[in-house]
Amino acid sequence: MNYEDLKEVIHYLKKITKCSECNGHFTDKDISILATLPFEAIFQLNCKKCGNTMLVNIGIKPEREHRSIVTENDVENIRNFLGSFNGDFKKLFNHSKKQ
Ligand SMILES: [Zn+2]
Repeated sequence: MNYEDLKEVIHYLKKITKCSECNGHFTDKDISILATLPFEAIFQLNCKKCGNTMLVNIGIKPEREHRSIVTENDVENIRNFLGSFNGDFKKLFNHSKKQ
């Protein structure tokens, strides 16, 4: 995903996603990017209210006209996928901006 896609997805996360434990909303500070692929990204959401951590895998469809965001909560698959990835939210964004 490029920077524009990530911005869009984070906007979506803040608007749509709620904590599975307390129904609280997430803000920029609560959202970390763990990994990105061309049409997919994995986010970690940390709930300030109850301390719950959620992993969310979000994919975007590459078509221009009917672009939509799909979410999939599958913690086990994401854990397997991540392996030893050690992502850094700020580094990722700084890098994306320069491209
Ligand atoms: Zn919560």
